[in-house]
Amino acid sequence: MARPPAATKLASRRSYLFPGIPPGQTDACTGTAVQTQICTNDEMSNCIFCKILKGEAPAKIVYQDELVTAFHDIHPVAPTHILIIPNKHIASVNQVEPEDEPALGRLFIVAQRLAAQEGLQTDGYRLIVNTGAHGGQIVSHLHMHLLGGQRMKYPIG
Ligand code: 5GP
Ligand code: ZN
Repeated sequence: MARPPAATKLASRRSYLFPGIPPGQTDACTGTAVQTQICTNDEMSNCIFCKILKGEAPAKIVYQDELVTAFHDIHPVAPTHILIIPNKHIASVNQVEPEDEPALGRLFIVAQRLAAQEGLQTDGYRLIVNTGAHGGQIVSHLHMHLLGGQRMKYPIG
């Protein structure tokens, strides 16, 4: 599988990727045409991450492709704290469907890429997906935290 394009290139493509990716958009990894998944449902109009995706709320976007978007957390708890989200509104892991597999896999590919860009691969980093109240999930749009730049606390939980 080909590697996804560099984040810097994708960040500069943001202006035409959203809102609404034009038909015929190609998959950043495979180069094949994809079915665009973007949250446009009125039901998600109050989701802050959907607002970021639609350009209705500000964020420092560091990566974007047809499946996922990554941006800096507004309240970082580590020197690197990036959120990676599917472009489709999925409330949490509980709502994941089989069709979401490509986007969920892409979260890890992009996490790996961003970790490398941030210089985290040697020392390591932490990926977190909080789910529900006990999991500490505050924003109901599935997201992966990429944390690094310091030794993480352990044990977690
Ligand atoms: P959770 O606890 O749901 O796993 O994490 C949600 C994360 O989203 C938190 O780390 C919080 O700081 C971040 N966050 C909440 N609202 C915003 C926002 O408007 N912009 C950005 N960039 N991050 C946000
Ligand atoms: Zn959303």
